[in-house]
Amino acid sequence: MGVAGGMWGFDRRALLAALAGLASSPGVSAQTLARGAAPRVRLPLIVLDPGHGGGDPGAIGASGTQEKRITLPLALELKRILEAGGQCRVAMTRTSDVFVPLARRVDLARQREAALLLSIHADASPTGHAASLRGASVYTVSETATDPLAAALARRENLADRAGGMRLPSVSPEVQRILLSLMRQETRAGSERLARLTVNALDGEVGLLNQPLRRAQFVVLKAPDVPAALVECGFLSNPQDEALLRRPEYRAKLARALAEAVTGFIGRRSLAALEGPGISG
Ligand SMILES: [Zn+2]
Repeated sequence: MGVAGGMWGFDRRALLAALAGLASSPGVSAQTLARGAAPRVRLPLIVLDPGHGGGDPGAIGASGTQEKRITLPLALELKRILEAGGQCRVAMTRTSDVFVPLARRVDLARQREAALLLSIHADASPTGHAASLRGASVYTVSETATDPLAAALARRENLADRAGGMRLPSVSPEVQRILLSLMRQETRAGSERLARLTVNALDGEVGLLNQPLRRAQFVVLKAPDVPAALVECGFLSNPQDEALLRRPEYRAKLARALAEAVTGFIGRRSLAALEGPGISG
């Protein structure tokens, strides 16, 4: 168990005792207590990231479809389904055709302590590859030998604060490094689980690329403390995929599968966070 999971597992009995003591306050979340903030109702926050936008059209389809015009309606449909389910809150990195830098998308998820970030894209096969390449795939970030983001984090931030928000009285820099490392392991494990759930949910609903679970260096997936996955919903460079992705019914099908993956992910997380009598949400 790492630190993010440890936040939930972290002295859970004491946490539940505190929750019991605060039973008169409506909807205290374990996360809020663990972070020492004011008690209030907090459903897990899902950040949806429709790829590209504004001056960045993303991939261009065989018939000229712009990726940014596929990712936004798909993400909005997913938002609608998730909010109707009532198990989470949803934030979007963009809700209109605007350019949002990748770093700002990551920052949004981090600042708002998102339970996960799901980035939504549609692929195009690289020049020289066959236009026959088609199907959806899901990416997590690949491991790197050097970790500039963690290094920058270590320089700039209060590591104890970043270590899952646990209040640790004056721990040494060594302990802080260990906690950060544990947090990253936990985040990576969460990302892998999210990606597997996503592939499983898409499988049988839509066509998948060979070996649909993949890894790559996506900036938008690099938050050290937010599990993240990137879905390539199909290949715009493939005429059949492009035609499908243009259809609202097909995008709704994709959105339903992605919603299933997201609720599967937060379902287990919520259970771990909130097990105990009379506590929900
Ligand atoms: Zn893209």
